[in-house]
Amino acid sequence: MQNNTTELPVIIIGAGPVGLAAAAHLHARGLRPLVLEAGASVAAAIRGWGNTRLFSPWRYNIDEAARRLLEADGWQEPDLEALPTGHELVDDYLTPLAAALKDVIRTGSRVVAVSREDIDKTRSANRDSTPLLVRVALADGSYDDVHARSVIDASGTWSRPNPLGRSGLPAPGETRAAASGLITQSLPAVTGAERERFAGRHVLVVGAGHSAANTLLDLAELAEEVPETRISWAVRSADVSSAYGGESDDELAARGALGSRLRALVESGVIDVHTSFVISGFEFSGDRLRVLTTEAKDLTVDVLVPATGFRPDLSILSELRLELDPAVEAPRQLGPLIDPEFHSCGSVEPHGEQVLSHPEPGFYIVGMKSYGRAPTFLMATGYEQVRSIAAALAGDRAAADAVHLDLPETGVCSTDLGGSCDAPAEPQLVSVGRSTQASSTCC
Ligand SMILES: Cc1cc2nc3c(=O)[nH]c(=O)nc-3n(C[C@H](O)[C@H](O)[C@H](O)COP(=O)(O)OP(=O)(O)OC[C@H]3O[C@@H](n4cnc5c(N)ncnc54)[C@H](O)[C@@H]3O)c2cc1C
Repeated sequence: MQNNTTELPVIIIGAGPVGLAAAAHLHARGLRPLVLEAGASVAAAIRGWGNTRLFSPWRYNIDEAARRLLEADGWQEPDLEALPTGHELVDDYLTPLAAALKDVIRTGSRVVAVSREDIDKTRSANRDSTPLLVRVALADGSYDDVHARSVIDASGTWSRPNPLGRSGLPAPGETRAAASGLITQSLPAVTGAERERFAGRHVLVVGAGHSAANTLLDLAELAEEVPETRISWAVRSADVSSAYGGESDDELAARGALGSRLRALVESGVIDVHTSFVISGFEFSGDRLRVLTTEAKDLTVDVLVPATGFRPDLSILSELRLELDPAVEAPRQLGPLIDPEFHSCGSVEPHGEQVLSHPEPGFYIVGMKSYGRAPTFLMATGYEQVRSIAAALAGDRAAADAVHLDLPETGVCSTDLGGSCDAPAEPQLVSVGRSTQASSTCC
């Protein structure tokens, strides 16, 4: 066992935008990052929704430490007001960033557990001077144990969609329907590679967030070319209007426009809306899917696209001493700041290392995963999280605590396009310590 952990790398789980930004900040601080990425290449999760256009322009999507590294490598920044697709974000920013970071990223390396060398969760003695141990499953089926002075979990939530059934559980028949392909993944490439799955079919989209809006708009485009395509949209709430978001009041114009276009399609009858739609089960009807509901609003469709949000996979962290908000599954102090039941605007105070710390020394959850089940995360929030953590790990407490965020507002206080936000709003402008900021963000 190594007692001097300072010689060990800081391991980052996941090479998404926040994981790579963490590596850039650690590099800038003279620390040694090692990024472990499950996918065959960086940003594998974003590739999963690569055809979707982001609602935040480039100016909010580029981390400052990453920018400095890229510019030293001769990178040309994109038009800061343009809205990239997921694929463009990867091709024009994250792939060059990975190249600029040089040899600190291992792809094909899925982290399956995090613990401490030779001691389990129950042992307290010498915990903070004992290296963290990260177990990695390799592509050939073998395992590798890697040691770290600190671990930053930036593995996102993309691989864990929320189930469609009520009570937070899969409905009877749901797993089988997904395995048979009648239920797709979120954000399929409706007008791209997966077009044939949807053209001329009856498609049901379930959910009220940004992903649902994107899929519905893509389906409407497809229906213009193939008029037999039938679009149904089901939400649990009694009224769908909250899903339109801030429209012209949204500071992110693209996100506001999304809501307006959706409203127009619903009002013109292109999209058939089903409210108070609570799924109780699935049955097969030939090669179609019968969606059963609690209030006898059953529907038979050709294919169902879920857009019901995501939740974090905490199983890989079960040997660590975590402190999580019991409802949102975000770090304890962060949970109340982002809980969608109370923060419908997604207002978030700037926060960094202190708020993100756990009883487990040197371990942090950042990025999309740090928001647990809350749907309101933006990349810029994650960039500030990892800037602060890198400063703390480098011993610069003042920089770690001087947290600041500058994000656009949605222009709505009762809902957003991010999901289940339907409670009264918190004030959108907040002042915390030495930093002031307003943010109101949903994805
Ligand atoms: C459709 C959509 C649109 C969005 N639009 C915006 C937007 O416009 N603006 C904005 O600011 N935010 C947006 N977001 C929200 C959020 O900023 C993005 O999801 C962003 O990609 C989150 O970054 P991340 O690095 O935290 O996680 P991810 O991008 O999800 O990256 C996590 C990485 O970890 C890897 N990984 C997962 N598990 C493991 C493991 N066990 N071991 C090793 N590696 C692992 C994954 O393969 C992935 O590469 C959007 C999200 C979605 C889904």
